[in-house]
Amino acid sequence: MGSINKQTSLEEKKTVLHDKGLTKKLRICTLAVGSALACVLIALSVININQVVENSKKGYSIMVNDYPVAIVANAEDAQKAVEGYISEQNKAVEQEVYVSQRLDITEDKLTEEQTEFQTVDEAKALLAARVTPIVNASAIMVNGKKQVTVGSKEVADSVLERVKNHYVPNDSTLEVLDVKFRNKVEVASAWASVKEVETADEAANYLVNGTNDTIATHKIVEGENAWAIAIHYGVSTAELAAANPDIDLEKLKIDQKINLVSSKPMIEVVTVLQKVSVNTIPYKTVYATDRSAPAGSQTVTQKGQNGKEEVTLQLVRVNGNEVNRSRLNTVVLEAAVDKKVTKGAAVTVASRSGGSGELLWPTSAKRISSYYGSRSRGFHTGIDIDGNYGNSVWAADSGTVTFTGWSGGYGYCVLISHGNGMVTRYAHLSSISVSTGSSVSAGQTVGRMGSSGNSTGSHLHFEVIVNGCTRNPLGYL
Ligand SMILES: [Zn+2]
Repeated sequence: MGSINKQTSLEEKKTVLHDKGLTKKLRICTLAVGSALACVLIALSVININQVVENSKKGYSIMVNDYPVAIVANAEDAQKAVEGYISEQNKAVEQEVYVSQRLDITEDKLTEEQTEFQTVDEAKALLAARVTPIVNASAIMVNGKKQVTVGSKEVADSVLERVKNHYVPNDSTLEVLDVKFRNKVEVASAWASVKEVETADEAANYLVNGTNDTIATHKIVEGENAWAIAIHYGVSTAELAAANPDIDLEKLKIDQKINLVSSKPMIEVVTVLQKVSVNTIPYKTVYATDRSAPAGSQTVTQKGQNGKEEVTLQLVRVNGNEVNRSRLNTVVLEAAVDKKVTKGAAVTVASRSGGSGELLWPTSAKRISSYYGSRSRGFHTGIDIDGNYGNSVWAADSGTVTFTGWSGGYGYCVLISHGNGMVTRYAHLSSISVSTGSSVSAGQTVGRMGSSGNSTGSHLHFEVIVNGCTRNPLGYL
């Protein structure tokens, strides 16, 4: 009991508080006990033990601002209750708390209403309901707004570090270049009620998730998919996707944890990451034109081969979501080899009325016995297709028959106009089955192969005439 009247301690505390400019705001009468219980309730200097003599029901009341909140059997219990309560508060916020109300222990007696003494624990509970200590805490401020209050600057700093680490990816292929807050983040010293003071866990959860709790998650079991999980928890698959921006919900793995609700971060953490990867350089295809090769034909003159490059990327993420990706450096490890293709020269005739622009091979026989171009007996204006007498000869494209009949060295001959200045000729026929002026479709029989006119042996002389000039039919077939 000797420790109760220590006026000097109180005066010291008052001085400290005065220095902090708090004396006017808070009428601090009882000051905290340090975490070391040895220096028990140093500040209870104003606790007066008023002697009220009435033997049988004599006890001690704990007074808060002159109002009795509990009565215990003896002064020791009263002191234990007060000390115990204060020291529990100290422990909870890991530093010294202050009580702004006046606490006294007064000799008292039981009444008709209060017939029994309270235990120390009961007295502590009653104190807790009446007394809210304050603490010199630390507020985490984001853009000037207080978000959470924790016990000390050390705790605040550790919480901020945890928040940053929350967004550092656990991925060995990523090098972390920087982790910083996008917002203005400060830790400010602030007097706060102990009830406002949150634990490091609560504070970190709040800053990351927007709630003091951890975000509800679900662990994937065999046979589950996002759709089934969404139905089970009564959320939409869109909400699930939003709550798991880094997870491909189409490719869930057993034991993978997914969030069931979205977090609403109170703070923005920017992570700058570097990723080095080896990528394939796809080969390019380069086309060349060969005017002597048949249209539509393609010859690969060089095989394409993919290359390899080492790419250094910088990724910028805000709260885990990528906002920027840039290529810092590229090293070609192996160059790609172009694929080279030669295309047949004869370009198809675009948008002609009548014909399709592509010519059919005009008969069933395939062997060319004489090509288009110069030959010993002058210029050959078409190709000769060697075949049997009577083989069908058909229109190479749709068009209008412009000539049928005998035509000098050509013998029996058919000319078909396909529009856009293109005409085909079928010569040395043995018979003709269309008449001048009739329309023919591509592939329609126009006559039979023969050897009429200036011809040796049965064959079809086939000509392509564009704007009055013959062209190599192989460019169109
Ligand atoms: Zn010929």
